[in-house]
Amino acid sequence: MKVFIACLGTETNTFSNMPTGLTNFEETMLYHGDATQNSTALFAMPLIIWREKAEAAGAEVVESLSAFAQPAGPTVQAVYEAFRSEILTDLKAAMPVDLVLLCQHGAMVAQGYDDCEGDLTAKVRELVGPETVIGVELDLHCSISSTLMASANVIITFKEYPHIDPPDRAHELFDVCWQALHREVQPVMALHDLRMISMWRTPVEPAASLVRRMQELEKQDRVLSVSLAHGFPWGDVPDASSKVLVVTDGDLELAGRVATELGQEIWALRDSTHPSGLSIDQALDQGVSAPSGPVVLADLGDNAGVGAPSDSTFILRSVLERGISNVATGFYWDPVAVRFCIEAGEGARFSLRIGGKVGPGSGDPLDLTITVRRIMLEAAQTFGQARQHMGQAVWLTCDGEVDIFLNTVRTQTFHPDAFEQFGIDLAQKKIVVVKSTQHFYAGFAPIAESVLYVAAPGAIPMNFSEIPFEKFTDPYWPKVADPHSV
Ligand SMILES: [Zn+2]
Repeated sequence: MKVFIACLGTETNTFSNMPTGLTNFEETMLYHGDATQNSTALFAMPLIIWREKAEAAGAEVVESLSAFAQPAGPTVQAVYEAFRSEILTDLKAAMPVDLVLLCQHGAMVAQGYDDCEGDLTAKVRELVGPETVIGVELDLHCSISSTLMASANVIITFKEYPHIDPPDRAHELFDVCWQALHREVQPVMALHDLRMISMWRTPVEPAASLVRRMQELEKQDRVLSVSLAHGFPWGDVPDASSKVLVVTDGDLELAGRVATELGQEIWALRDSTHPSGLSIDQALDQGVSAPSGPVVLADLGDNAGVGAPSDSTFILRSVLERGISNVATGFYWDPVAVRFCIEAGEGARFSLRIGGKVGPGSGDPLDLTITVRRIMLEAAQTFGQARQHMGQAVWLTCDGEVDIFLNTVRTQTFHPDAFEQFGIDLAQKKIVVVKSTQHFYAGFAPIAESVLYVAAPGAIPMNFSEIPFEKFTDPYWPKVADPHSV
């Protein structure tokens, strides 16, 4: 038995003005056949698990590219085509191959390619022929196309947002594919289009119950896997809507029925699961009046993880204008300011221009007199079982009351240890502001007095009715009250 594994992905915000080129992949994750030996990144984890399981079963493993970019605008065409070529060349050299396992995102767009996952998987299928089993693991923020459905035998998406479960889904995908390889099951897949653009915060109700419901359905006879593909609201592609995906053992009718029934349950909960956000003033009012801290504010408008710059200043400006003290906020992607801080050194006090640099969503920069408290040349943070690097990072204080954190590798804030590696105690803070939509939740909720979502201005609009889609032309909720009857 020979198993071929590879990873290629990013989450493309088609409205972002930041190009995704080779530098982004190099900075985020780029390995040519040895990610399982060297990477601790989230999207390398499935490959590590697949290698372990395949080798334990006595199979030979051929590992190809592992490439992942921090979300931004469309990937440069030549970069995508070179990565695709590398995977296909490695695959050709490895053939014959019994099983191909691909870790992809599901929302990758390159110049000239609206559906990179469908394109790559179809090319893999062309090469290996109909007998080889192809399994694909996707982030739940994915658009599932008919091309992808036709090219893969099994597709499984993450179930949890924050994404704490990619390793679990990797185990499941391997097991179903391994059974298919040994003709113990015959996977077939059905898709139900929810005709929705939304997000589901799965640690809290009622979305938490939907995850448990999917797991219950998986216990039914012949149901192999149930996924909710949330979709990615800021990707303008023809298949942008949320979908339910069900894999069964040889029973397409059952797969379709389960997908439709679950789809109806999700639809019925649409108002109570749809994300909402406070204004900056509402959130700061609640933070200031809370009996204890820290109150954690999530800056939904500026999450690098969905392709925002991570340098917007709207919330920080309000904090300073209102004179609120005992606040920690990060991480601002500002390599220029970090360089000045490193040159000046710890303890230096000077005037520094912070943030507001990348685009209109960044707001205006802030010119502040700051003190450099601590410099870290190789900062990192926890994300689930993964360890994500942050580049150089600095802790500054402004007027002695507000702690500001800057870094050089654009990333959202996943975990309190991003701040605490500097020696700051977040438990003593009144308010902590993080640039993240939901991934922060797993790490910060345990230390937070409360968690508030702030629909601040910025690159990421949270009103899904007003996203200026052009390629996604289907009627969808919440723009249309009942898109199923249109
Ligand atoms: Zn995601």
